[in-house]
Amino acid sequence: MDYRQIPAIFIADAPGLDFLNSIATPVDEQVDWISDGGGLLDWLEQAEMVPRAALAALRSQSTPAELDAVAAQARALREWFRVFARKRKGRPLTARDLRELAPLNQLLERDDRYGEIVAAATGEVPPFEFRANRRWKSPESLLMPIAEALANLVCDEDFTHVKACEGPRCTLMFADHTRGHARRWCSMAICGNRAKVAAHRKRVKEQQGE
Ligand SMILES: [Zn+2]
Repeated sequence: MDYRQIPAIFIADAPGLDFLNSIATPVDEQVDWISDGGGLLDWLEQAEMVPRAALAALRSQSTPAELDAVAAQARALREWFRVFARKRKGRPLTARDLRELAPLNQLLERDDRYGEIVAAATGEVPPFEFRANRRWKSPESLLMPIAEALANLVCDEDFTHVKACEGPRCTLMFADHTRGHARRWCSMAICGNRAKVAAHRKRVKEQQGE
């Protein structure tokens, strides 16, 4: 199914996991929101990971082939990280896991960030704040906010509460930040309702069978 027909899914409560969820089966057909360069630009805009002006500049300065090539790199990064995350969800990360993150560190090394002092909101004391910027020089720079989101995930998120949705055919992952850590579904709208309907059908069937 064409990703342009349906908004991307942001239910993970952690941008790094939202990135893994950029391929999903929200109804019957699989949708890959970053299946080409245009898709990657749209997804990054929906995720608010890249300023709009930078997206517009890269869209006009790059060839479709260049953008498609970065989207392919992003998909490879996504599927590599999916293996890492699925294997480790439900338990805390350990120092030993760092070795497997070497490819991510290699990508982070290429990041081109710089700081800037900017005016704070009116009335603030002091009147300045520090802003972290990034140079968006090449299409490849589009991978950097994604790499940063994955790095933040492994540095800040307790993997004990990283979960996969319990929906039988659902591939979505999320960080369970609910108080009792009892979240089971990607969303009530997608899998929660499906489960409720299935449970109801089962009850009806059992009653009829009595
Ligand atoms: Zn689900």
